[in-house]
Amino acid sequence: MKSTTSTNRRRRLAAVVTAASLMLAVPAGVAPAMADANFPSPNGQTNISSILTYADVEKELKKLEKTSRFNVDVFTLAEAGTSVSTSEQGRDLYVATVGTGPEDVWLQGRIHGNEPYGTDSLLTLLKDLGTNGSSDYDLLREKYTFHIIPMYNPDGAEENIRHTILWDDVTGTPQLGGNGGEQRIDLNRDWTENGFAAKESLAFYEYWTMVDPDFGVDIHHQGLKKEWGTGDDVTLSLGISLAPGGPTLPGLEDGAYDVLTRQMLVHVYDELSKYGSINIDRYQVGDGLEIDIKGGVVSAMMLGLNYQGLNPEGHSNPVVFFETSGNTSDGSLGQKARGKSVRQNELALKELLLGMATGEVQQEDPERWEDIPHQPVTGYQTDYAGVIPAQ
Ligand SMILES: [Zn+2]
Repeated sequence: MKSTTSTNRRRRLAAVVTAASLMLAVPAGVAPAMADANFPSPNGQTNISSILTYADVEKELKKLEKTSRFNVDVFTLAEAGTSVSTSEQGRDLYVATVGTGPEDVWLQGRIHGNEPYGTDSLLTLLKDLGTNGSSDYDLLREKYTFHIIPMYNPDGAEENIRHTILWDDVTGTPQLGGNGGEQRIDLNRDWTENGFAAKESLAFYEYWTMVDPDFGVDIHHQGLKKEWGTGDDVTLSLGISLAPGGPTLPGLEDGAYDVLTRQMLVHVYDELSKYGSINIDRYQVGDGLEIDIKGGVVSAMMLGLNYQGLNPEGHSNPVVFFETSGNTSDGSLGQKARGKSVRQNELALKELLLGMATGEVQQEDPERWEDIPHQPVTGYQTDYAGVIPAQ
């Protein structure tokens, strides 16, 4: 499957590159990515006018709640009853639920405000779960209750930045830090014993303790990336924030998460490799380093973080993440690739959820994680002990 995909991509790429080279006389080394409409643009000129705003999301959620055939419930964390319930700048934080199943699934997007397509793809999924009467969606609704968070970081999304900015409610301006500057918090490093600096973190953490999900997915963007070994443009990377076989994950739940998270992503890799415009690899942080961070939201979920006694039973759940290539603040999103970049997330979500529901995921060989293209592993980039070399 993989070789067919690459061949098709290369063939199409070659045709487009020739045409572009003739017209624009671009240097050969730059041409492929620029000319490939399937891939985000490297030219730093992304027009972000079509990126969904907070108001767009509110409007769409309310529309879906009103028009869906199957019960879509849209609410704010204030309505859910968390003690902290807004963003730093006071925006309501939204969740939508759909499905009547006994297992709870946590789906979050745009925890990094400049990484927009988690929002788009989760709203599409919500729409499908709310309106599609096919047997696939019946199965998903019967088996699961979905908790969909299309925009975890509305302040960052409105500013087109990764972080949220700590805010002074009284003055309505940023809280200034020791150096006199504003303080930006990466919400995906804030679920730690010493963290929860931002309101969004405590709000969603408390909601997580109310839900106790069975598993989850977190949707991100990354910079432009080439496949190791082939140099092909990567459109989607698949990741686990505590590295499989690494210092942490094998020790959780007797190794169950180390197995299931790999099975989840092997399944996504197989199913999406059928599509010629998608080229997948494993998420790595560079130089063959795997990510192994404990303060990431989905890591803390797997670790069963008990902050301020809110998770006394030590609930934990496995989570994987997707990384679409290109982001808005680098200007590398690429307007022409928008449809395909969103679509690959929609497909990945659907295939993963169906695979979990049918049991196909649980039948996958976790060792095939090695088949997903990646650079040979040299070590683990951690947020607790620097770089730990691989054995
Ligand atoms: Zn991200």
